Formats: sequence, C-alpha cells, structure tokens
Amino acid sequence: MDPFNNLEEIFRRFPGIGPRQAKRFVYHLLSLEQSDLESINENLSVLKKTTVRCSVCQRFFFNRIESLPNDGAGIVCNICKDPNRDASYLMIVSKDIDLLSVEKSRSYNGMYFVLGNNIPILEENPTERIRQKELLQRVNSLINQDNSAILKEVIIATSANPEGDNTADYLNNLLRGHINDEVKVTVLGRGLSTGSELEYSDSDTIKSALMNRKVVK
Ligand SMILES: [Zn+2]
Repeated sequence: MDPFNNLEEIFRRFPGIGPRQAKRFVYHLLSLEQSDLESINENLSVLKKTTVRCSVCQRFFFNRIESLPNDGAGIVCNICKDPNRDASYLMIVSKDIDLLSVEKSRSYNGMYFVLGNNIPILEENPTERIRQKELLQRVNSLINQDNSAILKEVIIATSANPEGDNTADYLNNLLRGHINDEVKVTVLGRGLSTGSELEYSDSDTIKSALMNRKVVK
C-alpha cells in the first residue's frame, strides 16, 4: 500500500490528465492541511450517495436525501419537475457539462436529455455508446400523453466537431423513425464556430447558436 502511487494511478485515469499532472495533483494534496484532506475525504465518501442521476433527463444532480431506495431509480431533478419549463422542446446534449453551459446562457426554457457520450466516426456499436433506449422512452413519453403531441421540437445540441456532427446525424435518423413530421428536429446554428465544444462556448455564442438553429432534413 503506497498511497502516493495509488493516488497518482487514480488521477492518471482522469480525463485529459497525463502522468506528470497526476504527480502534481498528489504533491498538491501533500501541501494541504490535514483538515483539508479530511474534508476531501468526507465529500468523496458521500458524493455518489448525494449526487444522483435524474431518471427523466439522466443528468446528475444534488439530492439531499442521503438514503435512496432502489439505487435512486425514479428520482427526478428540479429541471424536469419545474412546471414552468416548456415540455414542447426537448434538447439533447452529449454531456452533463453541456447542459450546464446551456443553462448558464439563460437562453433556453425547455427540457433536456443527456446522452452520456458522442458517437465516434466509424463506431460499430453506436447504440452502446449512448443512452438510446432511455432517449426513445423519453421522446415517447412526450408524444403519447393523452394523444396530443406535446413535443414540437427536438433540438440536437451536439458540439460543432466531427464527433458531434456524426452524433447529430445518427440521432436525426434514429428520431425520424420514431416521431412524425409534425415534430421538428433541429441542430444548433453555426454561431457555434466549427470545432467548438459546447462545454467551452460562452453564453452569447450558445444563445446565437440556439436562435439560428435549423431543421435537419
Ligand atoms: Zn431531470
């Protein structure tokens, strides 16, 4: 048991972190007070118990109830519960962090779905990369209630890079097979410059990309 090496190994598995950075993180931890380390420890130990995935939009959110029945199944976040949000719009984003960027831009008041991933080009099993089954369930739940189509538009808000475009194409084909022509499927306009990730886009850019969104054929 060598905690330094163990932690270094753990940090190396973080997204975008190389061996040198992983070491720097461990040295940083060593520079902290014991009380800070205990606070990190405390937060880590309850992180997965208090931050749960919404059963409707699939995003992670902080949930005060610490003991969750059935592994958190059926828990709904404050966005999905909010009666003031417009359920005729469903925006599909790749990652939780993209949803946060859109929320921060204050330019959208509809519902969300977090896909969990993008689909890499030439991916052989796209179905397994994303939450396809949950997405279709969500779309169906917005269409089939008392025969009136609540859903007017599905906005595919993937990043403006090859993986994002590939994901958008896949989703468009998938959705077209499940919803009728009355429901529009749109993608973000290119206010979002080519290559840009939603996560790193500022609020004005997101606002203009949303305003300039276009229907996919
Ligand atoms: Zn939700």
